[in-house]
Amino acid sequence: MADVLLNDIRKSFGALEVIKGINLTVEAGEFCVFVGPSGCGKSTLLRMIAGLEEVTSGQIEIAGKEVTYEEPSKRGIAMVFQSYALYPHLSVAENIGFGLSLTRTPKAEIRARVEDVARVLQLEALLDRKPKALSGGQRQRVAIGRAIIRDPHVFLFDEPLSNLDAALRAQMRIELTDLHEKLGNTMIYVTHDQVEAMTMADKIVVLNNGRIEQIGTPMELYERPATPFVAGFIGSPK
Ligand code: ADP
Ligand code: MG
Repeated sequence: MADVLLNDIRKSFGALEVIKGINLTVEAGEFCVFVGPSGCGKSTLLRMIAGLEEVTSGQIEIAGKEVTYEEPSKRGIAMVFQSYALYPHLSVAENIGFGLSLTRTPKAEIRARVEDVARVLQLEALLDRKPKALSGGQRQRVAIGRAIIRDPHVFLFDEPLSNLDAALRAQMRIELTDLHEKLGNTMIYVTHDQVEAMTMADKIVVLNNGRIEQIGTPMELYERPATPFVAGFIGSPK
């Protein structure tokens, strides 16, 4: 079933058109990666799906409902950014549960949900720590925990690993793939790193200059790149 549907999405900033007619279907449960060079429009496209940026034209559907002009909190999405600002004065548990603490959810239920999320992310032993006593990878897991606890229909990730060192990035690639298997949610993951795309994706969308160059599985892109751009981009080391 189509879970995220983009119909002829365009975006201009003033006279500059940065997204030039994107049509895309992301299936339920799919790990879809948007990959492309810096400045090609990945973040802008993701932010439009999240509702953080308004489309210039086109329609967005999530889970069968048109959400083109719906506010972010009503789209059934949660977004994890590259610069994951945790609340420094709150514990790991409070950071993860923060979104729920703004609702009427009873404290005991919040704690139980936080513990469930911590188990999935292997943060159980760290729940009482403050962010400054965590490693980079642990902080990123807390940021992901804050998104998971909202039980979103679709996860949106914008280069979540780009601030981590190479070893930790490799480890987090595996953890995120495992997480996707455990949760079964639809994920849209933006990166400029072709290794991340090739190792994590069910489906890769190669973007270049505001347009889709090719959509395919990692194997399809590797074996049959549709354009010289795709061949060069996928084939070149980082
Ligand atoms: P990517 O995430 O692929 O690096 P972006 O989506 O951030 O690319 O940016 C795509 C293009 O849109 C770039 O040329 C960028 O300068 C431009 N852009 C992004 N946001 C804005 C904005 N708020 N105002 C003007 N131009 C923007
Ligand atoms: Mg970006």
